[in-house]
Amino acid sequence: MLDCLFCGIASGQIPAEIIQEDSRTIAFRDINPQAPAHVLVIPKEHYVDLAAVAEAGGGLLEEMGRLAHRAAVAEGIDRSGYRAVFNSGPDSGQEVPHVHAHVLGGRRLSWPPG
Ligand code: 5GP
Ligand code: ZN
Repeated sequence: MLDCLFCGIASGQIPAEIIQEDSRTIAFRDINPQAPAHVLVIPKEHYVDLAAVAEAGGGLLEEMGRLAHRAAVAEGIDRSGYRAVFNSGPDSGQEVPHVHAHVLGGRRLSWPPG
């Protein structure tokens, strides 16, 4: 999709620190990390939010989950633990309208979120 930041990262037109990649998904470091490890997992194809990718079906959501775990392994936080979270829609504070899972770890994370 034209003018989409994460489509630009997926296509390589916008630089990002890529951690893991699969045929339909890509994981890269968040530019403004909220934890020692903070990775974003996206589908290469454009979907606005979790609702859109969930409704599309076809196993993409499972592939995103798998890549999130692979990214956690690559970051060395799979044993210490990590959080994978989607912001979806206005109340969540989602800022980038291309679905992404945040993978956070490397320190004790607070719960519940603010
Ligand atoms: P949201 O608020 O939409 O759930 O999260 C968007 C995330 O994208 C934020 O954590 C923000 O730091 C990250 N982000 C915004 N712009 C860029 C960018 O240009 N590159 C990377 N790697 N991350 C970005
Ligand atoms: Zn996009």
